[in-house]
Amino acid sequence: MTTVYLNGQLLPLEAANISVMDRGFLFGDGIYEVIPVFGGRCFRLDEHLDRLDYSLRETRIPQPHTRAQWLDIFSGLIDALQREQAAPDQMIYLQITRGPAPLREHRFPADMKPTVFAFSKALPPPNQQLPPAIACITCEDIRWSRCDIKSISLLANVLMTQDAMDAGGREAILIRDDQVLEGASSNVFIVLDGVLHTAPKDHRILAGITRDLIVDLCAEHGEKIRQQTVAAADLQRASEIWITSSTREMLPVTMLNGAPVGNGEIGPVFARLWQWYLGFRQRMNSPVA
Ligand code: PMP
Repeated sequence: MTTVYLNGQLLPLEAANISVMDRGFLFGDGIYEVIPVFGGRCFRLDEHLDRLDYSLRETRIPQPHTRAQWLDIFSGLIDALQREQAAPDQMIYLQITRGPAPLREHRFPADMKPTVFAFSKALPPPNQQLPPAIACITCEDIRWSRCDIKSISLLANVLMTQDAMDAGGREAILIRDDQVLEGASSNVFIVLDGVLHTAPKDHRILAGITRDLIVDLCAEHGEKIRQQTVAAADLQRASEIWITSSTREMLPVTMLNGAPVGNGEIGPVFARLWQWYLGFRQRMNSPVA
């Protein structure tokens, strides 16, 4: 990625500069989105833009662009990357901060000029086989109580992810009040007593776009899913655990805290949903979709 978007312009990464007084830099005062682009098409674009509106509303940062303007920005970035390298699958990262202020004061500046930064980067082609299984750890959720906002203040997520990596895992599964909520950067699905579970959408989790797709696929194919949290103690008897996110798609978790999940193999519920997910992606790529 060498071309980025900053405040109205496409420009080389080296030329993209912001003020050190930007509130994103000083306070982590901003929000972001990550939108996969599969075969040149944005994955669930309206849902991502709805979530962007929600994060902006909840943080009282003005929406800087219309949907048509966002589309122009995205297609500029997608085309620029495509000119640099063959990149049929990409992910757009976009971030909006409350912008620069003359003084470092907590209260909002009188004149808010949000900083808008975005880029697109290539994604690897999708796994046609089952994706590789991963190991995870559980950890106490040390984040704030508005995890429904896609905030750029990710220090707690960074620390918990590093704990998972240091333990040889790929994701931290977060527990609050003895309930399993989500991953440090993913949603979590658990098969307990043969039924798929995922946490309900409330202030404790980010409403993942891939999570919602899984819920829709379950409805379409008649797979039972309960949008209810699972108690941390029940993880030990789960037959399957998996995580989802826009860029990691679906990953089965076969080791948790050093012990196998279920029989230690990728489970049948995951395998079914993976096929349905691939079908969804294929429909996205077909010209009649
Ligand atoms: N929860 C958290 C905390 C996340 O950071 C993410 C990914 N950004 C998700 C869930 C998954 O959301 P999505 O499917 O929209 O990528």
